[in-house]
Amino acid sequence: MTNRLTLQQAATAIVAAESILITAGAGMGVGSGLPDFRGHQGFWKIHPQYAAEGLSFSDLANPIWFENDPAKAWGFYGYRYQLYQKTIPHPGFALLKCWQDKAQQPGFVVTSNVDGQFQKAGFSDERISECHGAIHYLQCTVSCTDEIWTAPELRFDIDPQQLLAKGDLPICPRCGELARPNVLMFGDRDWLSTRSDQQRRRFYEWENTIAGKKTVTIELGAGSTIGGIRRTGASMPGTLIRINPREAEGPPGTISLAMGALEALQAIDAVIQDHGD
Ligand SMILES: [Zn+2]
Repeated sequence: MTNRLTLQQAATAIVAAESILITAGAGMGVGSGLPDFRGHQGFWKIHPQYAAEGLSFSDLANPIWFENDPAKAWGFYGYRYQLYQKTIPHPGFALLKCWQDKAQQPGFVVTSNVDGQFQKAGFSDERISECHGAIHYLQCTVSCTDEIWTAPELRFDIDPQQLLAKGDLPICPRCGELARPNVLMFGDRDWLSTRSDQQRRRFYEWENTIAGKKTVTIELGAGSTIGGIRRTGASMPGTLIRINPREAEGPPGTISLAMGALEALQAIDAVIQDHGD
């Protein structure tokens, strides 16, 4: 059971923060009804056919499918694209935005999620770094250009049983070859990082603006398997609030909440509301 004192510490740090950095991993979306794709169980429970084929998330999130089986590749990514399109960000996003907005200095978001949920929840696109890209941006599979373009809609159907795409798959407007999402896959040598690099530069610029400010990092649902998000939070000056139901421990001084993201954010908010601010 989470200590009330720990929630109190988190609430106090957030209220006193001069700037708030939010760092998020796959666990952030669980409260919105999104499966935690990094954990096999949740994903396979929803997609038993992938379990039957012996395919894990990391097997599927591989650029090889775009070469070998485009219908399967776009079945997987198209399904996720549609899922993210129709998902409504859980109330924890609004709490985070409210806390960031109340701080003296604008905050920033660093996320490994490719689902565009922070933008959807009203966070400024200029203040988000999507380190693994975003599913609603596309690139050419044969890298004929380093252009990245948006995909406002997908014009094909997905067979819900087999998760195979049927119909016209997205193509590169320049060369006519198959297009793919601009997300970093496993063993991905062709991912175009230009958009992500630009976002990261803005993050570094933001870091310069908060030098000497009381900064709080709120890390949500970031596992240690792909540790980039955890390292970002741990390397920030100021206070780290690590929210993670399974791996909440952190460097000395970390405020650890072994809870789900939504549950923890609402619990912190309740403490803030109790005390007025
Ligand atoms: Zn092309």
